[in-house]
Amino acid sequence: MSRRCARPGCGQPADTTLSFDYAQRLVWLDDLHFGNSPANHDLCRRHADRTQPPKGWELRDRRSARAAVTLKFAS
Ligand SMILES: [Zn+2]
Repeated sequence: MSRRCARPGCGQPADTTLSFDYAQRLVWLDDLHFGNSPANHDLCRRHADRTQPPKGWELRDRRSARAAVTLKFAS
């Protein structure tokens, strides 16, 4: 199963799932979810790193990939 970044014109493989909670005004970045919910947006690493929450919202980065990538490149 191939998941692609949702940004128009990007098409890079997705490694992050962006999700929203409108009630709490929270935006989450998580490792790619394999449940394909319409409330989630798949993003590539580059676009995930550039994500800015809407004004008055909070962004929470819950991804574990950064540590995993660091370990992979260090070995
Ligand atoms: Zn992208």
